Amino acid sequence: MIISRNPYTGEEISKHQELSDTEIENCIQNAHTRFHLWKQTSFAERSNLMMKAAKELKDNSQEYAEAITKEMGKPITQSIAEIEKCAWVCEYYAENAATQLKDETIKTDAKKSYVSHEPLGVVLAVMPWNYPFWQVFRFAAPALMAGNVAILKHASNVMISAGNIQKVFEKAGFPKDCFQNLIVGSKKVENIIRNKRVKAVTLTGSGPAGSSVASIAGEEIKKSVLELGGSNALVIFKDANIAKSVKTCVQARFQNTGQSCIAGKRLLLHKDIAEEFLDEFTKQVRELKSGDPMDKETFIGVMAKETLAEDLEDQVKDSVKKGAKIILGGKRDGAYFEPTILTEVKKGMPVFDEETFGPVISVTEFKNDEEAIELVNSSNFGLGVSIFTEDENFAIKMVPKFEDGAVFVNELVKSDPRLPFGGTKISGYGRELSHHGIKEFINRKTVYFN
Ligand code: NAP
Repeated sequence: MIISRNPYTGEEISKHQELSDTEIENCIQNAHTRFHLWKQTSFAERSNLMMKAAKELKDNSQEYAEAITKEMGKPITQSIAEIEKCAWVCEYYAENAATQLKDETIKTDAKKSYVSHEPLGVVLAVMPWNYPFWQVFRFAAPALMAGNVAILKHASNVMISAGNIQKVFEKAGFPKDCFQNLIVGSKKVENIIRNKRVKAVTLTGSGPAGSSVASIAGEEIKKSVLELGGSNALVIFKDANIAKSVKTCVQARFQNTGQSCIAGKRLLLHKDIAEEFLDEFTKQVRELKSGDPMDKETFIGVMAKETLAEDLEDQVKDSVKKGAKIILGGKRDGAYFEPTILTEVKKGMPVFDEETFGPVISVTEFKNDEEAIELVNSSNFGLGVSIFTEDENFAIKMVPKFEDGAVFVNELVKSDPRLPFGGTKISGYGRELSHHGIKEFINRKTVYFN
């Protein structure tokens, strides 16, 4: 039995019977059968349905958002924003997929030669709870528009949202089995990947889950995309606009109660502006309103599970033992963790070396540009980095020095349907969103006429 529990109240809110192996097999067979019909539909038909999915999301954003908030503790205004972003990605691919996947003519010795973009078939998505709608939609909108069909194995604590996502596609009028939510725990994932009708898998989640899924996909020679953890740096150079960058950095670290892969987790401050920046930063973090996630005024909710808050507490305690100083917060109450600032953080401390998945920021000072670059790149993660400077030419010179999948200048790292999203190093591989994302689960077929 899979149970959803409200992390704010502790109350059990739903129970779901796991599918049997036979039921899973039937779902995959149905998806496969649907695929052969769905891939023959025109872009215009798919686009029409995807626009209806966007409308369904916008018309019922409150209902879908409330389920998210109850299941994983996200403040309600942020849950509504998540639903609206999902409508945006549906509209984006409804409008752009046909152009992105049109045949690509290549001049050769042939009378005619080109690349056509054809769907692969049934794609499995293994997804996390932190953005229960967005993570799924940013995969499903391009996958369906490309002519693939999707099966979802969502995180066990967000099964109501998982069912709601299937409902969105059904209410939009997508043919049955284009998108199916499978109520299964992670132990069932291996057999699903090994099923010969499943052609590819995408996973957004932690390193160990990614490693396991990718190993199985590798054995089966199936395509995989991995969107894993991150420990993004926020680098404040000495010419940065302090007022603007403080505001951006607070948002970068503390939105979604700090439970975001692309959150700025390591604040790196040039020594000359460190004190001024930190004073203003601490003031603004202190003002963040914690409380009931269903309250519109709340900015910091609870963490999605008490065990996650306990893990974060361990990381903070270990770092303090190694010399870090808590200048704000640091305490836990059940699944609630106070917004926390740790200074004097160095390599070798958990809050620097590991991903902290909650409202905790580590602060490290640097003396010069080389040291800043070295600190950023010393992380095993490589999702993104934000740099803050008023000198655009300097920023342009810095961009190639970072090993991450994204560099944002004077902005927090964020996903946007028009831009590719993904990491390097242990943050994963492959890209989602934009024309890059829609081509991940595609057979780029070479066609040659003589
Ligand atoms: P998680 O424990 O890895 O879970 C993610 C999904 O994988 C869940 O559906 C989970 O199912 C499943 N899973 C777990 N272990 C598995 C295994 N061995 N085999 C197959 N499936 C497995 O991660 P999480 O705690 O939900 O999410 C937090 C992590 O996701 C963080 O590290 C965060 O940085 C990362 N993340 C990355 C991105 C990105 O785009 N790069 C975005 C968001 C989050 P159960 O729930 O049933 O265990």
